[in-house]
Amino acid sequence: MNQILFGKRKKTRVVNIGNVSIGGNHPIAVQSMTKTYTSDINSTIKQIKQLEEVGCKIVRVAVPDRSSAEAIKKIKKSVKIPIVADIHFDYTLAIEAIKNGADKIRINPANIPSKDHLLEIIKEAKLAKIPIRLGFNAGSFKNTNYKKVQNQNYYIENILTIAKKYISFFEHSGFTDIVISLKTSDVISTIKCYEWISQNYDYPLHIGITEAGPLLTGSIKSSLGIGILLFHGIGDTIRVSLTGNPVDEVKVGYYILQSLGLISYGIDLISCPTCGRCKSDLFAVVNKFEQEVQKISFITKFPSTIKVAIMGCEVNGPGEAKHADIGIAMGKNYGVLFVKGKIIKKVSIKDCIKELITQIKQFYSSY
Ligand code: SF4
Repeated sequence: MNQILFGKRKKTRVVNIGNVSIGGNHPIAVQSMTKTYTSDINSTIKQIKQLEEVGCKIVRVAVPDRSSAEAIKKIKKSVKIPIVADIHFDYTLAIEAIKNGADKIRINPANIPSKDHLLEIIKEAKLAKIPIRLGFNAGSFKNTNYKKVQNQNYYIENILTIAKKYISFFEHSGFTDIVISLKTSDVISTIKCYEWISQNYDYPLHIGITEAGPLLTGSIKSSLGIGILLFHGIGDTIRVSLTGNPVDEVKVGYYILQSLGLISYGIDLISCPTCGRCKSDLFAVVNKFEQEVQKISFITKFPSTIKVAIMGCEVNGPGEAKHADIGIAMGKNYGVLFVKGKIIKKVSIKDCIKELITQIKQFYSSY
């Protein structure tokens, strides 16, 4: 059988964003973006705290106006993770965001057409010693029409031409503290773009599928796009972009890393789809379990991932439960609990979540 090899992680430069470093050998950082009006300081702080709770490492906020740029100063005082200011069109907002303490700014240089304005941004970023993400995306192409963008190669060539032009401009201006992203809403085009950039530059890459859609379809597109790139060693920070709660973006991001074995902590849940043999409400049990373990799943770091199996009946249940670190195979009114491959006891359905959580805590404390 041919061996499937995990691509060696591409070595990139290290870039510091506040207290988080990306690139080099640093862990792949999961990030998200708030969906509040940044000028609504209380709501933005509240959302960032929710993101911190599920392990978000970097958060981006939209800066469409001066009051949003000014809000950064107050928001920073109440949150722990670095703030990235997302700027389009108006270079003065970038400067304002930097002066108000943004830990990084994200611009799409293609929509700030004046070179002098870009140079102003570079000057301020240098002074503040913060990096800039050059975020190119297909939505900002000029002179395109529906027919042209149906051609995938045209799409890819266009975005790469723009990226090369501006990366070169920043390099010639003496600014290399940069992170690059090249997102499109198409999985294949995005993968091809990042592959090319990764082969030709060593800047850290922020990867993701832009405008991926709602929770289900967005998670699938993101898992494929981000997952394939990470499998090939490409990517230093990830953002799952969903039309929905940003907390889900972070959770999906961690599930992608966990599925690829790129984080060695958290809970890897194995649960069966159920069928006509299942005699308990497994959907309810699994949903409740996910809610209960959310915090320990991504925040608590232990030496390895714990595999927890929740299975619907005696067909595959005992096998999976036995192979997991902790497992439960459901019967009609009770489940059989396994720990490290051994049957421990029978547990009534109503107590099974509590019992699983107790076992997880004991398992963790044994490290
Ligand atoms: S473990 Fe049992 S209930 Fe679950 S899918 Fe398999 S046969 Fe069906």
